[in-house]
Amino acid sequence: MKIVRAAHLGMCFGVRDAIVLAQTQAALQPITILGELVHNEDVLADLKRRGVRVARTPDLVETSVAMITAHGASETLKTQTRGQGLLLVDATCPLVKSAHRALVALVGRGFHPVVIGQREHVEVRGLTGDLEEFDVVLTSEEVRSISIRPRFGVVAQTTQPIERVRSLVEILRETHPQAEVEFVDTVCQPTKLRQKSAQELATDCDVVVVVGGAHSNNTRELVRTCGLRGARVYHVQRADDLQPSWFEGAENVGLTAGTSTPDGLIEGVEAQLKLWSREESLRNNTHTQLAANF
Ligand code: SF4
Repeated sequence: MKIVRAAHLGMCFGVRDAIVLAQTQAALQPITILGELVHNEDVLADLKRRGVRVARTPDLVETSVAMITAHGASETLKTQTRGQGLLLVDATCPLVKSAHRALVALVGRGFHPVVIGQREHVEVRGLTGDLEEFDVVLTSEEVRSISIRPRFGVVAQTTQPIERVRSLVEILRETHPQAEVEFVDTVCQPTKLRQKSAQELATDCDVVVVVGGAHSNNTRELVRTCGLRGARVYHVQRADDLQPSWFEGAENVGLTAGTSTPDGLIEGVEAQLKLWSREESLRNNTHTQLAANF
């Protein structure tokens, strides 16, 4: 059994920088993060040990400093936070900020805003939080149900698979052929690289293990992408979740991970897989030798 790592996997710079910022700030004063900094239990547990608190809304913050996550927030929420007398630390990823700027520019030019993404995801709520009218879509049915407008300005949640986004933009164009549709590709490069690597991995491997938080959107998208390529896919949060029976008869086992997965968890999973791989080789060699001696 050969273990193959995806060419691009694991934590992106946006999440890494946000974690470092939270750790640095927590060492200076008590801070509260507005929402989950990352969708990963181990990272959140580590921050909790460092005294970092989490609150869903600014009115529930009991420290004097509040932090916006890498997913970003609307100007409305930021103003509300400052209005509570809180000092704001902003860990919004620069690529999420680009998506905000793209959407604001489209609206400013008279386009009706359409966001391709998950309606309840914190990043999408941040993108749409200052808008009076907008559509959030994730399926072809949702796109087809958008009311007619003369001009649509489309952006995407940064962690959406680009193939899905392009396909939904095409459906919007087909549904409203008379409308002007301008699409700004806001899917981030780390997501594109992880998605592309996952596709290659799933093509070459019998089994793929995806490491990431149970609630991590981009991890679940990696699972879905690998499944579409025909590989047997298992989503684990850490090495303890692995089961040896998953790998029986597998020749190539692929390993990938979402953008909020810490290196240590990936390494732990890889080490366990390599251990089973060595044990399997040992068993095969012993059988071969016994057969030869018989
Ligand atoms: S997934 Fe992309 S947009 Fe989100 S934090 Fe990472 S680099 Fe930034």
